[in-house]
Amino acid sequence: MKKGTKLYSILKLKCPRCQIGNLFSNPGLFVFSRILEMPDRCAHCKQDFKLEPGFYTAALWISYPMVLIIFIPLILLGFSLDDIHSFFKFLYPIIIILAFVLQIPLMRIARAILLNMTIDFTKKW
Ligand SMILES: [Zn+2]
Repeated sequence: MKKGTKLYSILKLKCPRCQIGNLFSNPGLFVFSRILEMPDRCAHCKQDFKLEPGFYTAALWISYPMVLIIFIPLILLGFSLDDIHSFFKFLYPIIIILAFVLQIPLMRIARAILLNMTIDFTKKW
């Protein structure tokens, strides 16, 4: 993936300004502790990550459509496959587990998207 693009910063969860520092104290998409813990500033370029009080509340409005785009087709698929054969009822728990497992990366990506909408990449870092 090309450094300097917003996609790089979002998917790698890097600081949108320097794309070197990590956005989260516990880096990675699939983590199970300190899920939303972020440093106050970027460790590399000192970009402020807490732009204003309640800034990340808006991330809800980014993750919400992402959840709809991913899960409405899955739910419809689950129902339509059930008409073909009852065996596909086994897919329901898988879809539910998937919904829980994807929650963490979705929340993190939504925060990264929100920060990238506000802060642009600067080459000098
Ligand atoms: Zn930075």
